[in-house]
Amino acid sequence: MFRPHPSGSETGTQHSGPLGAQRTTGKLLATQGYVVGVEISGSGARQSVALANLDGEILHRVRRPLDYVPNSETVLRLLDEMFAEVTGHESLQDGRILRVGVAVGGLVDAARGVVRTLYHAHGWDNFPLQDYFAERLDAPCIIDNNANAAALAEVRYGAGVGERVALYIGLGRGIGGALVVNGKIYHGETCTAGEIGHMLVKDDGPTCSCGHHGHLEAVASARAIAGRMIGLSVEYPETEAALQRLTSGRTERITAEQVFRLAVDGDQVARHIVD
Ligand SMILES: [Zn+2]
Repeated sequence: MFRPHPSGSETGTQHSGPLGAQRTTGKLLATQGYVVGVEISGSGARQSVALANLDGEILHRVRRPLDYVPNSETVLRLLDEMFAEVTGHESLQDGRILRVGVAVGGLVDAARGVVRTLYHAHGWDNFPLQDYFAERLDAPCIIDNNANAAALAEVRYGAGVGERVALYIGLGRGIGGALVVNGKIYHGETCTAGEIGHMLVKDDGPTCSCGHHGHLEAVASARAIAGRMIGLSVEYPETEAALQRLTSGRTERITAEQVFRLAVDGDQVARHIVD
C-alpha cells in the first residue's frame, strides 16, 4: 500500500491524490461498459455476435450459420435472438453496451452507414444498417465491409501491427480485400478501394458471383481453388488418392488450405493450381 512521503505534503498529494484517482477511474471504465461486434456474411454462412469488454477480451460469442441464401428480415430476426443471448443478464454483469461494430460481407457505404448491396442475399440494397443497430441496441454503431474490419483488426492486433500501409486479402467464398493506411481504413472515392475480388484477370474466364466472367474471385477464391482441384484430380490417380486420404473419401470437402499443403508437399496438380 502506498503511503505519502512523511516529510512533504506536496509529494504525498501528488502520489496518493491524482495518481490514485486515475487508477480507480481506469478500472471503473474497464468494467462498466461493453462493446458488441457483429458479423453478417454475404452468403448467410456466418452470422456472429460477440460481447467484449473494453480490453478487447471476448466474453461471449454466438454463431448461427444459415444454409440457404437469406433475406434481410431473416438475418435481422436471427441477430435479435443472438443479441438477447449475448447480452443476457448473466453476461452483462455491470455496465452497458457503449459501442456496436458491424462487419458486413458486401458493399458498404461506411461514411453513410448504409449497406449498398449483398451479392448473395436479398433485401439489403441501400439498407440503413447503422441506424438500425444504433436504435436497436441504444448505442453508437459503425458499420463497414468485413474485409475492411478484418484488415483493421490485423493492423491493431495481428499480422500488420506497426505497419504504415497494409493490404489485407481474405480468401473464402469470394476474395475480400482492404487497405489500411496510417492506421485507418482507406475507403477510396466509392468505398471500394480494396475490392480486388472483382478485377478482371482472365478474359472469358469462369463466371463470378457478380455475374461477370474472369474476375479474380472466380479464379482464385478458396471455393474456386477447391473446385478446380476436384475437377482436375479425377485425371491424376496420385492426386486423387491424396485427396481421398485427406478427406476420408469425401473429396468434395477438400479445402483451399489443403490444396496449398499438397502443393508444398510436391503434388503437381496442386502446384499447377496454386501457380
Ligand atoms: Zn465479380
